[in-house]
Amino acid sequence: MEYEVFQMDAATWRIENKGVRFFVLAGSRRAAVIDTGMSVENAKDIAASLTDQPLLLINTHADMDHTSGNNAFETAHMHPAEYVNYFKGGAKHPTPTPLWDGEIIDLGGRTLRVITQPGHTPGSIALLDQERRVLYAGDSIQDGRIFMFGPMRNLVAYRQSLEKIMRLAEQFDLIYPCHASLPLTNEIIPRLMEGADRILRGEAAFTLTSMHGTRVRVYDVGAATFLCDSQPGD
Ligand SMILES: [Zn+2]
Repeated sequence: MEYEVFQMDAATWRIENKGVRFFVLAGSRRAAVIDTGMSVENAKDIAASLTDQPLLLINTHADMDHTSGNNAFETAHMHPAEYVNYFKGGAKHPTPTPLWDGEIIDLGGRTLRVITQPGHTPGSIALLDQERRVLYAGDSIQDGRIFMFGPMRNLVAYRQSLEKIMRLAEQFDLIYPCHASLPLTNEIIPRLMEGADRILRGEAAFTLTSMHGTRVRVYDVGAATFLCDSQPGD
């Protein structure tokens, strides 16, 4: 249960834990906790130690490395397309609260806009911290390993989500993902689009590896590394 807290500005923190990070964003009335990390059952306590504001949990998506501390909260706010992922394998959680595309979450002098980003998972979202011009991108926009293999992943949808976020790119200057380098700038978005295109067209070179007992293709496209389903004959 090791973690490290970094203060990003007077009202923003990131908590790094086992290769994944989550965030606490305080406004004048309440604070958003964006994800709860991996094996940090005390994510809520950590957030409460940083701010006196009431806490609102928002999940970028429901993969386990983003939700392990969720059940200390009364509810988790996420896109409903993510519920199937959240409850997979009969996982027990309090009933989530839906967040919809375009919804504005007002923290008091600080507003977060929900931007759906299906692809990595069906209900992945990014959150635009509008006043600070920072995009919290979950796993969708990052320069590390982007998991695109197994059920519920969709590279075509992912590519379309990048195109959608690219059209909004004049509204943010920095990208804070949940894995790998931070911060990123907008220039990574067209590079990820090009990488996804090359994979979809069958033009990208790959190697094979085993992840969680599954054989996957590893595409290092420069901007990031995509892990995709292997194909018959690989
Ligand atoms: Zn993740």
